[in-house]
Amino acid sequence: MVNNYSHVFLKFINYLVKIISVKTTLPVPVPVPINSIPIRILRPDHTLSRSKISPAALTVLYQLHKAGYQAFLVGGGVRDVLLGRAPKDFDVVTNALPDQIKHLFSRQCRLIGRRFVLAHVSVNRDVVEVSTFRAHHEKGGDGAMENGRIVRDNVYGSSINEDVWRRDFTVNALYYDISDFSVIDYTNGMTDLRAGVLRLIGEPILRYQEDPVRMLRAARFAAKLGFKLDPATAEPIPQLGNLLTHIPPARLHEEALKLFLSGYAMESFKQLRKYDLFKHLFPYTEASFQTDPLAQPLVEQILFNTDQRLAKNKPVAAAFLLAALLWPPLLQVLSQRPFHEDRQPEDRQQELMLEAIQHLMVQQMRYVFIPKRIIALIQDIWLFQLRLTGKHRGKKSLRLMEHPCFRAGYDFLMLRAQVDESLQKYSDWWTQLQEGDSEVRLQLMSHGGHPFLPERKRRARKSSKSKIATAKENTEDGNDEGI
Ligand code: ATP
Ligand code: MG
Repeated sequence: MVNNYSHVFLKFINYLVKIISVKTTLPVPVPVPINSIPIRILRPDHTLSRSKISPAALTVLYQLHKAGYQAFLVGGGVRDVLLGRAPKDFDVVTNALPDQIKHLFSRQCRLIGRRFVLAHVSVNRDVVEVSTFRAHHEKGGDGAMENGRIVRDNVYGSSINEDVWRRDFTVNALYYDISDFSVIDYTNGMTDLRAGVLRLIGEPILRYQEDPVRMLRAARFAAKLGFKLDPATAEPIPQLGNLLTHIPPARLHEEALKLFLSGYAMESFKQLRKYDLFKHLFPYTEASFQTDPLAQPLVEQILFNTDQRLAKNKPVAAAFLLAALLWPPLLQVLSQRPFHEDRQPEDRQQELMLEAIQHLMVQQMRYVFIPKRIIALIQDIWLFQLRLTGKHRGKKSLRLMEHPCFRAGYDFLMLRAQVDESLQKYSDWWTQLQEGDSEVRLQLMSHGGHPFLPERKRRARKSSKSKIATAKENTEDGNDEGI
């Protein structure tokens, strides 16, 4: 860290500005460290190289700067590059107001959000999120609080000096200045970054009350970065978790997907449970952990599999993940209904399952919203389980494999079989049916090769004819049972 004379002068000016601004903005909801003077880390003393910043973000930073605005990179982009990781996205912050950003980038720019107006600037195929400095709500403007909670956050500030105290964690409040490539640190974020500590800026209880989603962010960053929560940041969380009930379910949907579809699902789950937050997102899943010994293993298995797929750059589907997270509570709902897997016609089972799904989704969506399109996919995956373990054979099985839901349904059965040995005979059977040649398929579809019929019935029939002959007969006359 090298301090030159101009830097000392700047510090002094900032110090004066700080004192003046604190006097004029009292009272503040979050105690701002009044004698905090930013540390400016000059380019030779940090590792944030422009080659690590996306060309789109650099273009936006340069254009803002050229137009006479202040422009900084902030948040995960700075944090992750300094940690030697690849950032998910780059966030730009500026003193330009949303309309000015719109004017500067014209058709490349779209203003979005109500709670928080942001600009999305498109450069080639990338989109860079640009936000205007925020200030305290006491400064007037378009901000609104409800019981200490921020419900609208469009009170604009004129400098980082104000913006920094509105950020969540110290490691997320490092600003990369495009004018001289230095990093500005008001909150000792750099020290926390080196020590692997997540520390909320300001008074933790007030900061969680202002925005309870910060608790979920704490769990997510602890998981993703492998950081420890500072004790003062960690301590209030279990008591304040129920503040999440005030957060719109649509926002919690976004947060849940970030928690479970960013490659750190298993660790995020552990952090959420450690701080007793999981139950505020998926209360029925949490409840099933107490009564169903397979519930938690299933949830952990899907989280593990999801992380593995992402690590191999394979696609992951929100519907598949949610189908697994909500399968144990679905079974609980079904257990309270006259649902009998072995002795009921499949249409009746389907009817009961549809009712149970409807019931569960209405309850669950009071917490985490799930879009209709995703619910439809979850429903298909679940209903397909009845077919995959139902009593049928012959052509019907082959036809099922052609069904558009087969792949997801089969994958889900495989997942269930990973934690429930009793399902392995079904998953193996479907695997062999897909992989086998026509002779193997005939054999599998015969009574003897079939796991879906009761043992006694199978043996009795098997003795009268050879397996293959029986299979042929069944396949040829399309003699399906069940469905
Ligand atoms: P990542 O993009 O890797 O998930 P991030 O830190 O960039 O992490 P974003 O959600 O992109 O997270 O937010 C960008 C920055 O905006 C954060 O680093 C933080 O400074 C600020 N921020 C975001 N959400 C909040 C919040 N709820 N309260 C306070 N500051 C926030
Ligand atoms: Mg980000």
